[in-house]
Formats: sequence, C-alpha cells, structure tokens
Amino acid sequence: MDNRLAAFEKGHETFQIVKFKKNEERFKKLIEEGQDPKALFIGCSDSRVMPAMITGSRPGDLFIVRNIGNFVAPFNPDADYHATASAIEYATSILEVSDIIVCGHSHCGAIEALYKEIEQTPENIHTIKWLDLGQEAKKVAMLAYKHESKEKMLRYTEKISVVYQIDNLLTYPGIKRRVEEGTLFLHAWYYDMESGDIEYYDDDTYEFKPLCEK
Ligand SMILES: [Zn+2]
Repeated sequence: MDNRLAAFEKGHETFQIVKFKKNEERFKKLIEEGQDPKALFIGCSDSRVMPAMITGSRPGDLFIVRNIGNFVAPFNPDADYHATASAIEYATSILEVSDIIVCGHSHCGAIEALYKEIEQTPENIHTIKWLDLGQEAKKVAMLAYKHESKEKMLRYTEKISVVYQIDNLLTYPGIKRRVEEGTLFLHAWYYDMESGDIEYYDDDTYEFKPLCEK
C-alpha cells in the first residue's frame, strides 16, 4: 500500500492510544444511552472550518451537517433525495435538538463562486444548481456594497447568506412550529478564519456581534 494516507493512519493510531482511551467512558455512555446532542450545526464542507474544534465541543455535543456554502435549501417535499433536509428533520423531529446553528465563514469558496462565470458541465452540474441558494445574498450584497472593494463585498455576502439560510430553515413545518412554540432556537454564526473569532447575528439590531462577549 502506498503511503498517501500515512498521516491519517498515524493520527488514528494516536487517537486510539490517547483520545479514545481518555473518552472511553463517555463513548460507552453515548452508546448505552444514545445520542442527545445539544445543537444541530450546519456548516461549510471547507476543510479549514472545524466545527468541533472552534466550539470546543465533545463527542455527542453537536449533530453536524456540512455542505458547500453552509446552505439550507427551502422545504421542498418532492421525489428527489435531500441530504441536508433529511439531516435537519432527523435532528429537529427525532433527536429534538433545542438549537440550530448555521455557521458561515470567511474566505468561503462557495460564496466566491457566486461572482464567477462558471460554465456548466456534467462534472459540476450539482454544484452550480446548489449555488442558487446563495443568489439572494449576492443580490443584496451587490446593492449594498457596489462601491466597496471585492473583499468587503465577499465578506458581507458570506454573512448575509447565513441570515438567508435561517429564513430557509423556517420554511420547514416542524421548525416553524417549534420556533413558534419556543422550544427551538435558530442562530446565525460567522467564523472568521483569519482571527479565529466567531460572531453571531443579533436580530434585534441586525448586526453581527462577537460571540465571546455574549
Ligand atoms: Zn465555505
């Protein structure tokens, strides 16, 4: 066997010796009692965004869905396969999480792709369709930031897109019902890869504010 994955093999060995041993009791408890995660975390697939690391969460804490751009497709009960929607339903209806975090991030390739002319081919057809879910954010950003630099517009698009994804979450009947009942809470977060800071969206002031000062 070649050694392209040698670093992962070594990493797994260390995991077994150190971290698995350290958390063995917790893993056992999570198997016996089943999972009861605190929150559903919807994040970008970007390899530089690591939900467990940036939230300091332990096994069993977060039910995680990751996709390109941390997008949420609106409720659409058709005959297609909807991976993100099914994970959302499972987390909210079966596991009954109390919180959903949609976390965007800086330097997001999906958001940057919204501003590029990409020719559709059989090799990117699903990606181009998926990027439709960022178009509303792009439209608003282009109006609000038309005289600003490209970087500022991208950062704004990344942030405002998270707020649109929260709107899309509310199109799911089970989510709308639980939010209205006061048993489910939705959070828009934004992770800045340069500083390592997370900001949250304050829907009273329509601003992103530092999570650490909350
Ligand atoms: Zn991203």
